[in-house]
Amino acid sequence: NQRPVFARALEFGDRCAIIDSSGNHSYKQLYRSSLGLAGRISSALSSDLGGLEGKRISFLCANDASYTVAQWAAWMSGGTAVPLYRKHPQSELEYVISNSQSSLLVAGHPYAETLEPLAERLGLPCLTMPPTSSLSTLHGADKEKETTITDWADRPAMIIYTSGTTGRPKGVLHTHSSIQAMVQCLVSEWAWSRDDVILHTLPLHHVHGIVNKLLCPLWVGATCVMLPDFQPQKVWEMLLSSKAPLVNVFMAVPTIYSKLIQYYDQHFTQPHVKDFVKAVCKERIRLMVSGSAALPLPTLERWEEITGHTLLERYGMTEIGMALSNPLKGPRVPGAVGLPLPSVEVRIVMDNATNTTIVEGNHRDTQVRPGLEGKEGELLVRGPSVFKEYWNKSQETRQSFTEDGWFKTGDTAIYKDGVYWIMGRTSVDIIKSGGYKISALEVERHLLAHPDILDVAVIGAPDATWGQKVTAVVQLKKGRSMNLPELKTWSREHMAPYSVPTGLVLVEEMPRNQMGKGLQSM
Ligand code: ATP
Ligand code: MG
Repeated sequence: NQRPVFARALEFGDRCAIIDSSGNHSYKQLYRSSLGLAGRISSALSSDLGGLEGKRISFLCANDASYTVAQWAAWMSGGTAVPLYRKHPQSELEYVISNSQSSLLVAGHPYAETLEPLAERLGLPCLTMPPTSSLSTLHGADKEKETTITDWADRPAMIIYTSGTTGRPKGVLHTHSSIQAMVQCLVSEWAWSRDDVILHTLPLHHVHGIVNKLLCPLWVGATCVMLPDFQPQKVWEMLLSSKAPLVNVFMAVPTIYSKLIQYYDQHFTQPHVKDFVKAVCKERIRLMVSGSAALPLPTLERWEEITGHTLLERYGMTEIGMALSNPLKGPRVPGAVGLPLPSVEVRIVMDNATNTTIVEGNHRDTQVRPGLEGKEGELLVRGPSVFKEYWNKSQETRQSFTEDGWFKTGDTAIYKDGVYWIMGRTSVDIIKSGGYKISALEVERHLLAHPDILDVAVIGAPDATWGQKVTAVVQLKKGRSMNLPELKTWSREHMAPYSVPTGLVLVEEMPRNQMGKGLQSM
């Protein structure tokens, strides 16, 4: 019995679903506004409510309640929701709108100015939404028609674009059932309840912001507090405030944690303030999660010192939702990404012609092929949360699955000490130098332990002799200095000789995108 998230909204009635700059929005209000907007979408495309199956609707909204209204409205109208990102330049917005072959655009406030010129150029209708404070003006007549759709399961629900780390972003098509599977395994594994209050500060065009932080709370009747943007000061204020809503769940990408740490170090210098921060975080917050990129060990350790929380690191991607997670209860292994979530099956296979399976596992059980313990290979995933297809890329879709239906993540992993570890990507993060295969992520993990290094990206620079040479792009901590011989000396004591960087580039600020992803995507 697959149902979209909004189907539960009426059960939750007057409970508060979203709090944004304009105040509280109840489940019922969001539902009614969505139905009103769905009616407008349907009429703009000369359809009955619910009749837009297979039509894409791109929408651009601020991080507030209007986002949910636009998403639900697209679903209620029968269509596929395509979230756009408000910080993307026109060219990127146009790429997503054209690539997804959207039939209609919805502009949340204040993005009419951004979308209308694009709509005109592409010859598409564009509907404008009121500001979040006036969403109720979207309500239809008193006796609204309900959407008549009953067969939700295999209906396309969303096209979410990948981050574009390894090439142009790909449109990932999820059905209502794959989205529900993503939501349900997190709800059970991380014990979401209607009493939870999550603080949302992430972009809303990736799974992390859409599913983990918004659809999960809305599925259980909890409350999502949405900030328009990430600002360290505001986040600390919200986490520490003694006024309702008392936030008890927080999730972010590693860069956000490191920015919160920087703010803490600059502003919370007095011992009684530090004690207060720790006491509040420990008592009130039940869960703090990190993901979307590898969590550097120093960030995990410092966060633990400051807040008393061992960040729960998990691994996922646009195509599969979350796949591996450290446990809610029980030991979280620093640097590892835990075990498969319920309903997720994984394999690690050898990166060669034989495709030998090194490890096969699920939530409860792991089998390692004798003699191949700890060997690295590509991570494959199977389960109900896996996407349907890359939009309009049938060849890529075919190539990304094995013949027996496993999705090839393109990430390399190992199984060691009873948990899974992500080593990098098969395509870009493996540096091939002098016959060695070196995991860039692994070298980065080592270098982050260097006392002078704040952030680092390790890349393989082309080299005539070695094929590629391990090069560290380093952002130093304030007031520190470093040269290559010093880095080499330190590295020789801390890592295998072939992993020692032979190139060093110092940068003022590490280029990272909003999801904390590093250099390759720049
Ligand atoms: P593209 O597919 O366009 O190249 P992308 O793979 O970065 O971009 P996403 O789907 O947004 O796009 O990100 C998924 C990737 O993020 C994973 O394949 C993995 O490489 C990385 N990732 C996510 N969580 C973690 C984690 N905990 N540790 C290491 N890497 C992670
Ligand atoms: Mg990818």
